[in-house]
Amino acid sequence: MKFSVLAEAFGRMESTRKRTELTQHLVDLFEQTPHEVVARITYLMQGKLRPDFEGVELGVAEKLAIRAISKSSGIAAKNIEDEYRKEGDLGHAASEILSQKTQTTFMAQDITVERIYETLFKIARLEGSRSQDMKMKYISSLLNDASPPEAKYILKILLGTMRLGVAENTVMDALAARYTGDKANRRLLEHAYNVSSDLGRVAETVATGGLDAVKKFKMMLFNPVRPMLADRVKSQEEAVEKFGGEFAAEYKLDGERVQIHTGGGRVALFSRRLEDISAYYPDIIEKIPEIIDAGDAILEAEAVAVNENTGEFLPFQELMHRRRKYKIEKAVAEYPITVNFFDILYCDGASCLDMPYTDRRAMLERVVKSDEYARCIQMRKAGNSGEVQDFMEDSINAGSEGLMLKRLDSQYQAGSRGSNWLKLKREYQNDLGDSLDLVVIGGFFGRGRRTGSYGTLLLATYDIDGNVFTSICKVGTGFSDESLDQLYQILKPKVVIKKNPRVRSEMEPDVWFEPELVIEVVASEITLSPIHKAGLDTVRKGAGFALRFPKFTGKIRDEKGAEDASTNEEVATLYHGQKKVAHDKSLM
Ligand code: ATP
Repeated sequence: MKFSVLAEAFGRMESTRKRTELTQHLVDLFEQTPHEVVARITYLMQGKLRPDFEGVELGVAEKLAIRAISKSSGIAAKNIEDEYRKEGDLGHAASEILSQKTQTTFMAQDITVERIYETLFKIARLEGSRSQDMKMKYISSLLNDASPPEAKYILKILLGTMRLGVAENTVMDALAARYTGDKANRRLLEHAYNVSSDLGRVAETVATGGLDAVKKFKMMLFNPVRPMLADRVKSQEEAVEKFGGEFAAEYKLDGERVQIHTGGGRVALFSRRLEDISAYYPDIIEKIPEIIDAGDAILEAEAVAVNENTGEFLPFQELMHRRRKYKIEKAVAEYPITVNFFDILYCDGASCLDMPYTDRRAMLERVVKSDEYARCIQMRKAGNSGEVQDFMEDSINAGSEGLMLKRLDSQYQAGSRGSNWLKLKREYQNDLGDSLDLVVIGGFFGRGRRTGSYGTLLLATYDIDGNVFTSICKVGTGFSDESLDQLYQILKPKVVIKKNPRVRSEMEPDVWFEPELVIEVVASEITLSPIHKAGLDTVRKGAGFALRFPKFTGKIRDEKGAEDASTNEEVATLYHGQKKVAHDKSLM
């Protein structure tokens, strides 16, 4: 398949933000795509080569790309840099430079998607001392044969700046429309995606085998399942009312969610964001074959840091010491953990997702051989608020952050947040009812003691419909000197010259960031504001949601991606909840 077809389609997609138009562009693109490249196209449109959990990273630095453009075009690196500053995007700048160039060194020959993909893959695999030179060679060989628009997208993929704004759901809409003739079949594709986290595999399945193949789509060991998430409740009474009968209450431990895959002599661990985190927990990898009494299995557990002397749970932040590439053995010894299982998704060749909670829990208890290091999370059945209250107190005393309440007959709903699981946290007793996880989109330089760091951050929610990040507040409190310093180190490399097109904000911070980092914030109230864009027009025309007295809790949510941040729908629910609370109080 000619890469020019793809580049043209990307160009059309880039010029719209409307979901229906995007979907139509995708359908048109799939019409022109041979089945054997559907998976590759699906990855490339998201700026990837493989699903995230495989960790295939291109890792090409801007400097190297500039050198490669210079080598292929004969234009001085300095001029390319100037154009880049003007455009704010190197891919775009390269395409401008190349189209202005009249000489014929840039003979556009037909390059294929297959060739681009293969070369990008080779680049991603390169390691070691000579890798930079080799990368240069590969990149300039591609650029030599690429037309300006093709060069633009090759560079965007290489640099990780593809921002077509195509959400997974839009891709699935288009796949359903193109290969099954009905967009409504997206539901079935979604199920396949939720159990595999691999959109390319889903695309290939529906393209080659149609709806039948999608219906037979199987979970696979070492393909992570997208996690089931919980709704929040503010009180035990609310939970009892929602469930209306007996339910399970489990400790909600404050650690890291780990999805454990074991079978065929291999063990792998995936995070809540489905990244392979096996390297951070060699202790879990080593012990799983002893702990798990099954041929193969996929299980979910919370890995929690503990005080070895007292056995007490320690806060989530302690686990961050494990996030290192080197000297992991030292970190394992210094920051011991326990593994607390709470679900089983697959066992001995069969999916457990459709089993009710009670059966999955019984199976989990059978399969996990408990010891000091590993056990099933504490669980008790409850049916009234007094029982929940008692168990809540136990759980808080044991160092956990509250309870997870689960419907006894509920299946495991991969990839969705629903009311079959409810979380009740101690901190929900505050005014707002919950903390929010917000994306850092901008920074204001600090003054006085905060000189040299970002004293205030501009934060955003995730808007699912538009697949954009919408400003909701500035936060300047809750930072310790240490956290200011840490945030500065994390955020500095994320500075971009121009506001990312997926960011919606009227405020002009000193610097814009790539919307990637998620931090936790509490606030006293959600108000309406003409300045912010979160949930714009939801409650009142021209007004968005804003936070009153926002405060950073100190938690950097490493395990969350920007799309996992609090959504405008969640904020709207909290907003209406607080109004109800105010109203109820006024009646008392
Ligand atoms: P939070 O901000 O509360 O951690 P979240 O958005 O990360 O929420 P939720 O689904 O809202 O995810 O909360 C569930 C999280 O709580 C899980 O991701 C998991 O890490 C953790 N957890 C702790 N104990 C349990 C348990 N018993 N069952 C399920 N999840 C648990």
